[in-house]
Amino acid sequence: MATPRDRASLAEQVEALLAVDGPLPIVAAGEPVLRRDTERFDGQLDAPLLARFVEALRVTMHAAPGVGLAAPQVGVALRIAVIEDPAPVPEEVRLVRGRVPQPFRVLVNPSYEPVGSDRAAFFEGCLSVPGWQAVVARSAKVRLTGQDEHGRALDEVFTGWPARIVQHETDHLDGTLYLDRAELRSLSSNEAMAQRWTQPTPEEAARALGFPLA
Ligand code: ZN
Repeated sequence: MATPRDRASLAEQVEALLAVDGPLPIVAAGEPVLRRDTERFDGQLDAPLLARFVEALRVTMHAAPGVGLAAPQVGVALRIAVIEDPAPVPEEVRLVRGRVPQPFRVLVNPSYEPVGSDRAAFFEGCLSVPGWQAVVARSAKVRLTGQDEHGRALDEVFTGWPARIVQHETDHLDGTLYLDRAELRSLSSNEAMAQRWTQPTPEEAARALGFPLA
């Protein structure tokens, strides 16, 4: 899984993954594929195979459940990710975190740049780091460029929670995990999150755990 692959073997790897129906296995932190650069997508998978791979990513993201999934998280070192967030959260959380619904999207060869200097710090988690969440300060607004699954150019500004999701997923394609950017003193188990840190902002957690908030 950690050796360079030619075009044929990448397609073969994806074919093998898709041979089993249902959600794909998600790899966890410690797997080198999560730390390597990914190959830009330029047709390594033909159109039908790409469509099947994207559908498998979607099924896997839904089953997890999660709001984004990058190809390296299923062991495939290609610059492709999917996002979708129905945002089933209380109104107060929606307002404070900007967690508006994000329709399903495929990001091919995405990259982002900050728009303005505003930052937003909230707890987030990752399907490849199961059981934990931590506070990450991220750009509140980003411009995302790349393509969609049909090769059409993508150039769009994201704000609120969708901005956080596209940064998190694009970072995966550069071998970066959210923990690399997190306030490590905020690291909280899912149990602690459910019992203590359900407030819309991490201010109380910052005071109690001793980490700075931008
Ligand atoms: Zn992740």
